Amino acid sequence: MTATPTVWFLTGSQNLYGEDVLAQVADNSRAIVAALNDAKLAANVVWKPVLTSKDAIRRTMLDANGDDACAGVIAWMHTFSPAKMWIAGLDTLAKPLLHLHTQANVELPWATIDMDFMNLNQAAHGDREFGYIEARLGVDPTIVVGHVSDAAVRAQVDVWMRAAAGWAATRRLNLIRFGDNMRNVAVTEGDKTEAEHVFGVSVNTYGVNDLADAVAQVGDAEASRLAADYEDLYDVVPELRAGGARHDSLVYSAKLEIALRSFLEAHDAMAFTTNFEDLGALKQLPGMSVQRLTADGYGFGAEGDWKTAVLVRAAKVMGAGLPGGASLMEDYTYHLVPGAEKSLGAHMLEVCPSLTATTPRVEIHPLGIGNREDPVRFVFDVDPGPAIVVGLADMRDRFRLTGNTVRVVGPDAPMPMLPVGRAVWVADPDFYTAAACWLRAGSAHHTVMTTAVGADHWREFARIARTEFALITTGTTRVGFEAELRAGAAYYRLARGI
Ligand code: MN
Repeated sequence: MTATPTVWFLTGSQNLYGEDVLAQVADNSRAIVAALNDAKLAANVVWKPVLTSKDAIRRTMLDANGDDACAGVIAWMHTFSPAKMWIAGLDTLAKPLLHLHTQANVELPWATIDMDFMNLNQAAHGDREFGYIEARLGVDPTIVVGHVSDAAVRAQVDVWMRAAAGWAATRRLNLIRFGDNMRNVAVTEGDKTEAEHVFGVSVNTYGVNDLADAVAQVGDAEASRLAADYEDLYDVVPELRAGGARHDSLVYSAKLEIALRSFLEAHDAMAFTTNFEDLGALKQLPGMSVQRLTADGYGFGAEGDWKTAVLVRAAKVMGAGLPGGASLMEDYTYHLVPGAEKSLGAHMLEVCPSLTATTPRVEIHPLGIGNREDPVRFVFDVDPGPAIVVGLADMRDRFRLTGNTVRVVGPDAPMPMLPVGRAVWVADPDFYTAAACWLRAGSAHHTVMTTAVGADHWREFARIARTEFALITTGTTRVGFEAELRAGAAYYRLARGI
């Protein structure tokens, strides 16, 4: 789906120490790069020559900007690197920055330590000089502290790599909307021009009959072959199987998938939306076809919700290769029994089966919404375990990301009359606080639910996007969260400039 991203490793020093010391600095930083690459993290780390001058630093940052394969830059000041040298380079850098505050050695060599050792291994000193200039310039890097032999340090580097990869994907994302937003809905609206500035995504609308025309051009034989694949891959109900009374509906769903996939590929688009109010000549509201495409990494939002489609795509890239998945989710209804409160999330059709490791069933049922023929869909329960739901709201002059860590627990009993992909969860810190804080933040009923990546990934993604991230999690209180929102509102308005 996505090529392994690359990040660059920059080591800061200066010419004060002489060639021998700089050679040792280079060897040590190569060893750190090797340790990171041996750990098989989300990105390949590329070592760059030690930087000792303003011109070299600026040139390296320009090269990083110009390399589409470079998702971000890691910086480490092995020795002291006077930070005025870094101003022009940091002003130039347009890629995510990780400040890795590490050092070559784990233990102090107590018996032999001398001033030569101190001068070589002084990241404690040099990284403070670098931190000053980052803070002064408002760079806001991700900061990771510790030795690379520590699994927790490598895990934090991996989180940043994934956030940077998600960011690289949204910077280049083309998103196709088939039709506009659902009429009269507020939260799915938004400033598409601002979104292209903030996230990079290009959001454009096509007539749904362009898609219907593409469906009409798909050959019966090709669609029948894909329908046969469905029968091999999934638990398809007999009425939809070849020879079954409703097999034609499965073949039509296959045509929808083939047409959607080719339309998106032709437009170099990795995310899309549909709207049940605008289906033109389509015979079914796209269900299983959307679910299949999102399982392959496409972003999707329903009812024209392009903002959630961006989040789903970002989550797909951030979680690449990890167990779990990401999907459009919608807060639907509650189980309000005291002490056992739960949320039931689902959508009319389009929840992504990447949220389960089980084999989904393929079923067909009536759906009044959309006023078309009965749509084919995957039916499954999202697997139990930790997850996060994240919503993106347009607050008029900026975007706000709101997250809530949750625990998917599964239904108390089977729900045979609800044939969709569905998730039952318990929100952190508790149902009442979570719901009240979510309403206070004004975030959406549509979210991305992801089980592959968590709050740390979204926090770093938001940092890179310079966008507010309001997180509801263990320890959140209503009073504290409200204060955080007020501070965030003031800060992010000012930070955008007047
Ligand atoms: Mn919806």
